[in-house]
Amino acid sequence: MINYPTLIPELYRRLSPCMLCPHHCGVIRAGGKTGKCRTATDISVASYTVHHGEEPSISGTRGSGTIFFSNCTLSCVFCQNYPISQMGHGNIFSVDALAQCMIELQSQGAHNINFVTPGHVIPMIVDAVFRARQKGMCLPLVYNSSGYEDLETLKLLEGVIDIYLPDAKYADSTQAMRYSSAENYAEINRIALKEMYRQVGTLKLDDCGIAKKGLIVRHLVLPNDSAGSVEILRFIAKELSTQVHISLMSQYHPAHETGRFPELNRRITPAEYQLVLDALLDVGFENGWQQDL
Ligand code: SF4
Repeated sequence: MINYPTLIPELYRRLSPCMLCPHHCGVIRAGGKTGKCRTATDISVASYTVHHGEEPSISGTRGSGTIFFSNCTLSCVFCQNYPISQMGHGNIFSVDALAQCMIELQSQGAHNINFVTPGHVIPMIVDAVFRARQKGMCLPLVYNSSGYEDLETLKLLEGVIDIYLPDAKYADSTQAMRYSSAENYAEINRIALKEMYRQVGTLKLDDCGIAKKGLIVRHLVLPNDSAGSVEILRFIAKELSTQVHISLMSQYHPAHETGRFPELNRRITPAEYQLVLDALLDVGFENGWQQDL
């Protein structure tokens, strides 16, 4: 049983000074100040919709009730959604309006509520979840993130989040700093993945193959092995489990600022992708999905 009246103020306290994400900017967001995520206390939503393009166990047959938040704690030079993540495109929603979004998505038949890029606005999201729950919203919650998460914030989400859907973007923090301005990403991501796995375990599906609880790790293969894909897979296999569902993505294409980074300024080759697919099998993963190249 989640004690929302205690949890919500505790989450809001982490906003001022802001320690919500690993950047630990320390700004007083309640006073209108902003840090690296360029967000004070407003919730900006780029879109909300029943989305059919997620992993099969998330989208199912009726779609995932996806809410895309504006801004991000990372600044990836290859972000394909940079107008939303970096330029803040979206509309301001009150907490009540966000709760109403969840009710609407449920009434449209969504299998779950899927928060995309939620880390910098999680106090307001949990506040809205509480209000939506009181009005009958009973769907599982998906935390769909970059995987750059503060451990103390994550611990507060135990029992609230049903399905974690984080990225594992880089095996090497030097690359993470260069391409995403994320200090210590690799170390922080590993700690976050372990905590998420501790909270929800391997993915559990219902009789129709729809996710109810668990962890799915996404990994986007970058050109010139810029992500360190094989090392990431080895880490998950060794430190979590080969039962973890891996969603391997080949969809990378140059975007946003990749013109400044010649090693990122092309798509991946079939040979590069095959190397990671082979590693997935060699390491022993049994569950998950792989995009076609
Ligand atoms: S959530 Fe935003 S303001 Fe807070 S620590 Fe992270 S980047 Fe900084």
